[in-house]
Amino acid sequence: MKIPILCAQCVRENPKDKHSYSFAYLRDDGLYSSNCSKGHISSTVLQQEKFEILFEIGANAIVDGYYREAISAFLASMEGFQEYYIKVICLRHNIISDALDETFRKLKNLSERQLGAFAITFLLENAKVPPFLSEDLTNLRNKVIHRGRIPLREEAIKFGDAIYSIIVPILRRLKSEYKTEVEKMTRFHINELAAKAPNRINTATLYYPTILSLSQTDSSLDKTFNEIFPEFEKRAISYTSRQTSRSS
Ligand SMILES: [Zn+2]
Repeated sequence: MKIPILCAQCVRENPKDKHSYSFAYLRDDGLYSSNCSKGHISSTVLQQEKFEILFEIGANAIVDGYYREAISAFLASMEGFQEYYIKVICLRHNIISDALDETFRKLKNLSERQLGAFAITFLLENAKVPPFLSEDLTNLRNKVIHRGRIPLREEAIKFGDAIYSIIVPILRRLKSEYKTEVEKMTRFHINELAAKAPNRINTATLYYPTILSLSQTDSSLDKTFNEIFPEFEKRAISYTSRQTSRSS
């Protein structure tokens, strides 16, 4: 999966021009550098949170026929979202210190610990049972992740659909009732990445539209992943062929 990267300096110098762009493979740190045909060296910060990107990787993996990788990416997306959720709730309670980062360092390598932390945070905040993956999908997850099972396409779609339906209702609540904290999180995220860019003047922010997105309108979150996927697949195939024709 690749994303389009524009040259920040070309855009700044001639905002109205039609700019050429290049495609970059996804990076873990969300910071991309480009070297355009005019010789400018610029950086691009990807606005999306990790869980939004991981879900997109999962959907693209289905399109490409990598069903094990799809399930693994959807799972990582859910774990990323759980971390994001805990951080938003901590922000609401004015916990933004190093204590939060330090706590996460202790949880991060053990997904069961993090799931526990998410479950209790959710319970305290909502007085409701948090959503969990069903038993049959947990079994599928274990077989795929720990025993090398190669799932069917239908299983990968079903898994993505389940993760999507767990995340979206919580995402909606965050967008409506925790709007200030969500906006702060986005600013923190962008500023943190931009601070790492070699040249801050030549740094732009990219919003890449993902299926699972904090910026998605409420009506587009009404559909299930099952309903969204066929249209997504069509677009993904034509997007990939455009990239191929540009690079050949
Ligand atoms: Zn340029």
